[in-house]
Amino acid sequence: MRAAVLHTPGSDLVVTDVTLDDPEDGEVLVRIVATGVCHSDLSVVRGAVEVGLPLVPGHEAAGVVERVGSMVTRVRPGDRVVLSWAPNCGHCFYCAQAHPTLCDVYVAAAGKGRLWDGTSRLRIDHRPLHHYSCVSSFAEFAVVPESGCVALAADVPFEVAALIGCAVTTGFGAVVRDAGLRAGDSIAVIGVGGVGVNAIEAAALSGAAAIVAVDSNVAKKPVAYDYGATHFVNALDEDAVEQVRALTSGRGVTHTVECTGNPTAMSRAYEMTRPGGTVVMVGIARQGAVLSVPATGFPGSKKRIVGSIYGGGAPDVDFARISALYLSGRLQLDRQVGTRFVLDGINSALRRLEDGAPGRSIIQFD
Ligand SMILES: [Zn+2]
Ligand SMILES: [Zn+2]
Repeated sequence: MRAAVLHTPGSDLVVTDVTLDDPEDGEVLVRIVATGVCHSDLSVVRGAVEVGLPLVPGHEAAGVVERVGSMVTRVRPGDRVVLSWAPNCGHCFYCAQAHPTLCDVYVAAAGKGRLWDGTSRLRIDHRPLHHYSCVSSFAEFAVVPESGCVALAADVPFEVAALIGCAVTTGFGAVVRDAGLRAGDSIAVIGVGGVGVNAIEAAALSGAAAIVAVDSNVAKKPVAYDYGATHFVNALDEDAVEQVRALTSGRGVTHTVECTGNPTAMSRAYEMTRPGGTVVMVGIARQGAVLSVPATGFPGSKKRIVGSIYGGGAPDVDFARISALYLSGRLQLDRQVGTRFVLDGINSALRRLEDGAPGRSIIQFD
């Protein structure tokens, strides 16, 4: 099959023939129909996040089950599925404590670029290739753990389903689960990208009284308003924090969702959140980066700083909830689909993301 391979961080992906072995026990072979190009993929390709090499990136995807290994009970050939980039074993320390995205088996496998049993199904020139987050969807097919396959409602198009597989769930859950936004609250969303627009839309759907979009690119202003933002603040302004406070009775916002992973923006997220409020950190920072917040006054601030991964950590449940909101017309996800590419256009799609072009780029397969 054909796949996009990362040999050297900082270089283009190479679209080439690779070998994909049959699914083992508890694994599923999925034909990828659509895969989104996410900032996490870009970070890996550009070398901002360290991974084992060579590797097939891609983690935001939907497709059709082609074949299943033995002992698979969750899906059958022909099923339409969204892939989860945080499959879980269901019985380890963290799974038992209802933290499936912290699953010991998943964290160990994903950290090594392998599947559950510590081996790879992907090979190039007889050498093993690394899987990315147990998905590797920049390829015509993927072998994934059974728990990485989540049933997809019949009327949800594959390209929308792919976005539900990462950006939508991450932004939606950051607001609804991790911030716990209630009607009448205020919120700032830093970074109006693939995740940020979903945080804005979820805040609007949840009845936020004020939604302040913060971005260094003023071209994102109309995009933010389209999704339901009530204000826009240029992140490059010296007084960006004061502007956010001024827009919210001088106190600051009830919640801030930080989507950029930029340490300065993360500190500002803390500052623009009012005492008693919640700061939700979604953006992935560069290797070795440190978050700095004032120690003085921290206890009295009663602020909560929450690490948010995959929208609060119940992707299977959220895929279904989000699909239902989409099908009822409450979440308008079609408009998030930006430019469509074939696999050979993957490097153009990554550059488009890097340039801050609006809309999610989608790689489509026949
Ligand atoms: Zn992603
Ligand atoms: Zn587990």
